[in-house]
Amino acid sequence: MIEKVHIDPVLGEVTLRKSTRSRRISIRVHPSRGILVTVPFFTPYAMGVAFLESRREWARAALARAAARNADLPEGEDIESLRAAAKAYLPDRLRLLAKQYGFVFNRVAIKHNTSNWGSCSSKGNINLNLNLMRVPRPLQDYILLHELTHLRQANHGPVFHAELERLLADHFDRNREAPDFQSFLPKIAASRAQYPVSYTLERALKTYRPV
Ligand SMILES: [Zn+2]
Repeated sequence: MIEKVHIDPVLGEVTLRKSTRSRRISIRVHPSRGILVTVPFFTPYAMGVAFLESRREWARAALARAAARNADLPEGEDIESLRAAAKAYLPDRLRLLAKQYGFVFNRVAIKHNTSNWGSCSSKGNINLNLNLMRVPRPLQDYILLHELTHLRQANHGPVFHAELERLLADHFDRNREAPDFQSFLPKIAASRAQYPVSYTLERALKTYRPV
């Protein structure tokens, strides 16, 4: 993947990125990283710039919306208190779930980033985002179970999803009396009829963006 910075007179710094996977030009607005224009690998950057200019008004509005959303989110000390709360809670919760479902991981670390809720390395080290402290417990547990499942399946293939669905079914059943799980149960039941439960939880998570 190769990139280039372009300065737009209205939008400021814009990242142009060539992608071998994309077949058309696209624009994304990221709250902290700004505007990203992806162009197919063999398309000149200039076409990406022209495309952006044709949608400048839309991009300007999207950027303003992203900035406004960010304004009421915690920063500074709040991040530090989230970190302290995350360190006090998440490793214990992960250990509990690992024990319950027969997983053995190596280390757990609390991280702060905006790109993922968690990750699991091939060495069995699990990273959890401190932003998980801002989401309801059923969604937290979903992420923890997702990362634990990676200890058995490194990819997101059908075997991974089947295993994760099995764990989620058991976990929601086990916790059906817990008040914070109860509000999710109708959603889970409706999902089961149509979509994998992880799909529904993933959608619910989208309303809690990491900051
Ligand atoms: Zn994953």
